[in-house]
Amino acid sequence: MEGLRNITEEDVEEQLNKLLPTMPNICGCEQCRLDMATYALNRLKPNYVRSDKGALFHKVNVSSPQAKTEILATVVNAITVIGARPNHD
Ligand SMILES: [Zn+2]
Repeated sequence: MEGLRNITEEDVEEQLNKLLPTMPNICGCEQCRLDMATYALNRLKPNYVRSDKGALFHKVNVSSPQAKTEILATVVNAITVIGARPNHD
């Protein structure tokens, strides 16, 4: 929806970008990344904010440290699960 964004989604993407390069044995293609993001986001609470207040608002609305820890753990889990069984050859 226009005017809304899900901070959790951005955090998941950030963690994938951070973690995948450190795991050379895991496929990091676009398809697997999408599968990992889907896996993680279906297990995490969404955190929606209005995005119509501009860049300042953007900076204020960050996930809590506790949420970040949960996101990290879930993304690692997603990488492990999808990485073990990619949905492609
Ligand atoms: Zn792949």
